[in-house]
Amino acid sequence: MFKILQKTLRAGTVTQPYPETAASLASGFRGLPEFDLENWRDARPAADACPSGAIAVTDAGRFRTVTVDYGRCILCGECAAVTPEGAVRVGRNFEAAATDRKALVISAQYTLDAEGRQTCLVRAAPEIGRQLTRQIHRILGRSLAIREVDAGSCNGCELEIVALNNSVHDIERFGIHFVASPRHADMLLVTGPVTRNMELALRKTYDATPDPKLVVAVGACGISGGIFGTNYATRGGVDQVIPVDVYIPGCPPRPEALLFGILMAVGRLRNRQ
Ligand code: SF4
Repeated sequence: MFKILQKTLRAGTVTQPYPETAASLASGFRGLPEFDLENWRDARPAADACPSGAIAVTDAGRFRTVTVDYGRCILCGECAAVTPEGAVRVGRNFEAAATDRKALVISAQYTLDAEGRQTCLVRAAPEIGRQLTRQIHRILGRSLAIREVDAGSCNGCELEIVALNNSVHDIERFGIHFVASPRHADMLLVTGPVTRNMELALRKTYDATPDPKLVVAVGACGISGGIFGTNYATRGGVDQVIPVDVYIPGCPPRPEALLFGILMAVGRLRNRQ
């Protein structure tokens, strides 16, 4: 017993103070890709390389429209690898949760020269993740009960969600805890592209959750179907089945990104009340 106490005292406090301070990220951490829309000379290689269809290029004569949907992005970095001029690079930002699905989409229009090089005409890039300050957790004036629903995920998101409960992230310090029944929950945290087999279960879980309730779609699959998209077996995202309050991009989102999105959702609940 004495040895355990001694070891505990030696380890000190391991819980990260995020979001009070910035998250400590590993040197090789890969966040959202960043796009310099104005200086991007050719989006076609990146669109061809993108495995999830997050980058779309539409040509009409000498005009080109490029859209990037962070809700589909799986953070693979392929777009940066095939863009040598540096207009696309792998960033370190993960605070990208949004209450509006459209806020996860950036776009630009270009003219094309004879060699197919782009020149930017207009760009529309919402400030990804800037809707929230680090102080938002102060509005959490009550406890929050979360029911996690796996609607067909690969379990990558579940691994990060489980990490919220470890001593490094310790989500209970905010009065947030996970419950076993939707009847006890304030929030549904839903992962996966919503397989057809899970669709009815998700609807029933939503109906069983008392009002006022919040729904958070987790990861590229939860937002848009991700790499699976919409097909014979999947519905293509949580909002195709039940209303969603907050979208948390990533593949999977790291624990701090989940915390960021959950706290954003709590702010939204207070606004509603
Ligand atoms: S990082 Fe995202 S946008 Fe870039 S290629 Fe991978 S999935 Fe597509």
